[in-house]
Amino acid sequence: MNVFSDIAFDDHEQVVFASDKTTGLKTIIAVHNTNLGPSLGGCRMWPYATEQEAIHDVLRLSRGMTYKSALANLPLGGGKSVIIGDPRSQKTPEFFRAMGRAVEQLGGRYIVAEDVGTSPEDMGHIASQTKHVGGINDGKDPERTGDPSPFTAYGVFIGIKEAVRFKHGTEDVKGMRVAVQGLGHVGYHLCRMLHANGAKLIVADLHEANAKAAEIEFDATVVSVDEILAVDVDILAPCALGSVITDRTIESLKVSVIAGAANNQLEHDRHGEMLHEAGILYAPDYVINAGGVVEVYFCREGKSVAETNMHIEGIGETVREIFKRAKDQNLSTGFVADRLAEERFGLKK
Ligand code: NAD
Repeated sequence: MNVFSDIAFDDHEQVVFASDKTTGLKTIIAVHNTNLGPSLGGCRMWPYATEQEAIHDVLRLSRGMTYKSALANLPLGGGKSVIIGDPRSQKTPEFFRAMGRAVEQLGGRYIVAEDVGTSPEDMGHIASQTKHVGGINDGKDPERTGDPSPFTAYGVFIGIKEAVRFKHGTEDVKGMRVAVQGLGHVGYHLCRMLHANGAKLIVADLHEANAKAAEIEFDATVVSVDEILAVDVDILAPCALGSVITDRTIESLKVSVIAGAANNQLEHDRHGEMLHEAGILYAPDYVINAGGVVEVYFCREGKSVAETNMHIEGIGETVREIFKRAKDQNLSTGFVADRLAEERFGLKK
């Protein structure tokens, strides 16, 4: 089992393995960097095939949170936790109370929130054991259900407008043709905003019902999941899974801008270079999908929805700086974003 030599280890400050015999909890909590503040990141519950797979995933995700929070101008570091288990069969309130005790033992160096396989309800059980938790539905504000997706969508919308401004000299998306891949929690909200602002939508989702709903509600044109990456439009917004930009798909792209919510859209860093060479403006995913982490943090801090949205609007300024530096230095936007993040969280090293 490799931890220090895992490719994603990258100077992690702390990696904690915790278990609870009674409930069967097995968790790994990774704290990548706390230079800017306590680490915050979701708790992913997944039936990992091997422990090595879980370790690699938590290290990769935790490192990613350091970069995301630094560029989102949050006083936070990067961390993440994974639970090795099946979310469909193993969840109980006591299971998450045990998780809460594991988080509490880090004394606030790690703040947990929901992720794939966990929910606001699970965070509620964690909250009975530790105050170092976010993304809870306390029922106090109807605009806040504990689900960060609408806030993520808002940040992506801001990123799209900024990319359009940089590429076309106007931030108005009216009349722009936008292909949205994936109409889940984030993608569907994004479609609502784009439609309300006059964009023409072309959509695809593995679940036909989601695509049908967008067709009815937003007058979207539905295409198959095999076609969506090759449609001739202005903007592509990947909002499904990662690794959508590959050697194969890059050849069929007919867009001038890529800006969406999905994490890790580029299969490899070199695909960022290829987009740059092809003159396609790529808004780095982790920069424009940071609305969710902003919401989790601002909600914990007792800030209003209006204050949260105002902070999310700052994504526009950050992504503009990235586009400008990339253009001036003839570099890919992904490369520039990473260096900018390192400048920020490295300052206090
Ligand atoms: P989700 O599971 O609710 O939605 C994903 C949707 O994509 C589903 O409807 C699914 O059917 C569809 N899909 C899957 N594969 C597809 C394919 N090949 N073609 C077309 N559709 C496909 O997830 P979500 O919460 O909306 O998140 C979407 C993406 O954004 C993920 O990559 C996630 O990691 C990222 N993200 C989400 C948030 C958030 O706040 N939810 C924050 C940051 C990043």
